[in-house]
Amino acid sequence: MFHKILIANRGEIALRVLRAAKELGIQTVAVHSTADAEAMHVRLADESVCIGPPPSRDSYLNIHQIVAACEITGADAVHPGYGFLSENAKFADILDAHNITFIGPRADHIRVMGDKIEAKRTAKRLGIPVVPGSDGAVTEDAEAKRIAAEIGYPVIIKASAGGGGRGMKVARNEDDIDVALATARSEAGAAFGDDAVYIEKYLEKPRHIEVQVVGDGDGRAVHLGERDCSLQRRHQKVWEEANSPALNAADRSRIGMTVANAMADLKYAGAGTIEFLYENGEFYFIEMNTRLQVEHPVTEAITGIDLVHEQIRVASGAGLSVEQKDVQFNGHAIECRINAEDPKTFAPSPGTVSHFHTPGGLGVRVDSAVFSGYKIPPYYDSLIGKLIVHGSNRVECMMRLRRALGEFVVDGIKTTLPLFQDLVNSRDIANGDYDIHWLEKYLAKADT
Ligand code: ADP
Repeated sequence: MFHKILIANRGEIALRVLRAAKELGIQTVAVHSTADAEAMHVRLADESVCIGPPPSRDSYLNIHQIVAACEITGADAVHPGYGFLSENAKFADILDAHNITFIGPRADHIRVMGDKIEAKRTAKRLGIPVVPGSDGAVTEDAEAKRIAAEIGYPVIIKASAGGGGRGMKVARNEDDIDVALATARSEAGAAFGDDAVYIEKYLEKPRHIEVQVVGDGDGRAVHLGERDCSLQRRHQKVWEEANSPALNAADRSRIGMTVANAMADLKYAGAGTIEFLYENGEFYFIEMNTRLQVEHPVTEAITGIDLVHEQIRVASGAGLSVEQKDVQFNGHAIECRINAEDPKTFAPSPGTVSHFHTPGGLGVRVDSAVFSGYKIPPYYDSLIGKLIVHGSNRVECMMRLRRALGEFVVDGIKTTLPLFQDLVNSRDIANGDYDIHWLEKYLAKADT
C-alpha cells in the first residue's frame, strides 16, 4: 500500500480523496494555489504545499510544481480527482518517469479515450454499441453528405478533440451540412487546436445513461450499474440518479456486462465511466471518462462500495475488493450539484459564505469543502457542494431529498439550491419522465 498520497486537486473532491486515504491509513499531502491557502483540504491534510498563484494553469495544472511537491514531501502516489490533470496522459507519463504512481488508468488508455474518434473505434472493437456514423474523421463535404444520406437525417458533426459540448453542430437536412461542417471545424480548431470532426446520427430524445466500471488492470473488471444524468443544462449535468428510472434489471445487467467484459478485454485499471445515449431501448456509446466522476457518490450509495478505496487499491497493486457476484443494488440515490450561481441566470456568485448549515439524518450525504466564513474564490469551477440522498426506493429518496433541501442553508452568496427545490416538486421528475432536453425546456418556460 502507499505511504503518502498527494492530492492534485481542490474543493470537495480533494476532501473526498483525503477521507478515503485517511481511512486506509495513508498520509495525505494537499497542494494549493495562493487563493486556497485557507481551504478545508489544506487544513485537513497531513502536509500541504503551495504550488502557485490563483490561475489554474499556474497551479493546479502546473505539472512541474506538482512533481516538485511530491519530491519535497516524499509522496509515492498522486490522486488527480476529476478535471484539472485527471485525464492528462502526459502527466501520468511524467509521474511514472519519477517513480510516482498515478492513481488512474494507464497513460495509453487515457490517450485513446481522450480522442473521440479513437475512443469510438475502440469501443466498437470491444463490442460496445456505438452511434451509427462515419468511421473516423470526415474531411470532404461530399463524403459527409454521402454518410448522412446513408444513416439518415438529422445528423450531428462532432469534434474529435471535443469536450464540454463544444464543436458540435446538428444538420437537419443536406442544405445544413456545409455550414455545420465548417462551423464545427472552426470551433474545434479554435477551442482544441485540432479541427478533425466526425459525423453521427443525431438522436432526438435520448437519455444520458452511463455505466460505472472498475478494472484491476489485469483482465478483471466489475460494473457497478448505471447513473442517469439526463438532467443537463448546456451539456453540464445538474441532477444525477442511480439507478436510472428508465432501465429494468435485465437492461442493467445486459449493458453492465457488455461494458465490464469490454474493460476486462482492454485490461483497464481503476475507475472509469462509459457514457451512452439511450433511446428506444438501445444504447449508443458517446465517450469514456477515464477518471472518478463528480456524480460517483450515487453509485456508492446504492452499492456500498467506496470507489476511491478501489482506485487506491488497484493503483497500489492490491487488486479489486469486489467481484461481480458481490455487487448488489440497494434502493435509489439522487445527487444535486450545488453551484455558487444565480439560480435563474446561472451567473457565477463567488464571495463569502456567511452561514453554512448542511442537512443530516438517515440517507443524507453532503460532499462539500465549504464552511461558515469561507470565501469562494472567483477563479475556479462554481461547484460548491453535492447533496446525495439515498432511500430504499425512488419515492422514499425523493421525499428525503425534499426534506434535506429544506434544511440546507447557504447564506451570503447565491446558489442553485432553489432550482432543486423546484425540480423536486416537478411531476415529470417524480415520474422519472425526462430526456436530455427536458431541463433546458423547463428553464426556458420558467423564464417566460
Ligand atoms: P462532450 O465531451 O463535449 O461533453 P459528448 O460526446 O459527451 O461531448 O456529448 C455531449 C452531449 O451532446 C451529450 O450528452 C448529448 O446531450 C449531446 N450529443 C452528443 N452526441 C449526440 C448525438 N449523436 N445525438 C444527440 N445528442 C448528442
